[in-house]
Amino acid sequence: MSPPLNRINSDERLPAQVDVVVIGGGVIGVSAAYHLAKKGLSVALVEKGHVGGEQSSRNWGWCRQQGRAREEIPLAREALRLWEDMQNDAGVDAGFRRTGVLFLTKSKEELASWERWAAVAREMQVHSTVLTPAEVAERMPGNTD
Ligand SMILES: Cc1cc2nc3c(=O)[nH]c(=O)nc-3n(C[C@H](O)[C@H](O)[C@H](O)COP(=O)(O)OP(=O)(O)OC[C@H]3O[C@@H](n4cnc5c(N)ncnc54)[C@H](O)[C@@H]3O)c2cc1C
Repeated sequence: MSPPLNRINSDERLPAQVDVVVIGGGVIGVSAAYHLAKKGLSVALVEKGHVGGEQSSRNWGWCRQQGRAREEIPLAREALRLWEDMQNDAGVDAGFRRTGVLFLTKSKEELASWERWAAVAREMQVHSTVLTPAEVAERMPGNTD
C-alpha cells in the first residue's frame, strides 16, 4: 500500500518575481521545481488543487527497469538514482523501496519474449532472471496458479 499523501499548505500569495513558474504539482512539476531550486533558481510551483493529489498519487508506484526497451534503460536507471537521492536529500520517507519486480505468465510466447529480453538485461547490466516454476514457488509460497 502506498504511504498516505501529506497535504502541503500552499501560500496563496504569489511572489512578485521568480526565475521560473512551474504549473502543476504532480510528480513532474514537483521534481522540476525541486531540481531547479537545487540549482539556485527561485521557483513558484502553482497547483490548482493539492500537490500530488492527482495522477501522481494514484499510480502503481513502480520505478521499473525490467521489460523496458533498451533505449529506456539508461533513463530508468537515472530515475532510480534520482528517487533515492531525493528521499535522502529531503530526509523523509517517500515510500521508495528497491524490492524488485516479479512478472508471472502461463503464456509460452510471453515467456519466450522475456527470455529474449533477459539478453538485453545482461547487455545493459540490469539484474534480471527467468525463474523456473520451482523457483517461483519458493519465492511465493502458497501461490497456486
Ligand atoms: C493506472 C496507472 C498506473 C500508473 N503506474 C505507474 C507506475 O507504476 N510508475 C510510473 O512511473 N508511472 C505510472 N503511471 C503514470 C504516472 O502516474 C504519470 O505519468 C504521472 O503521475 C504524471 O505526472 P504529472 O506530474 O505529469 O501529472 P499529475 O500527477 O496529473 O499532475 C499534474 C498536476 O497539475 C495540476 N494542474 C493541471 N492543470 C493546472 C492548472 N491549469 N493550474 C495549476 N495546476 C494545474 C493538477 O491538479 C495536477 O496536480 C501510471 C498511470 C496510470 C493511469
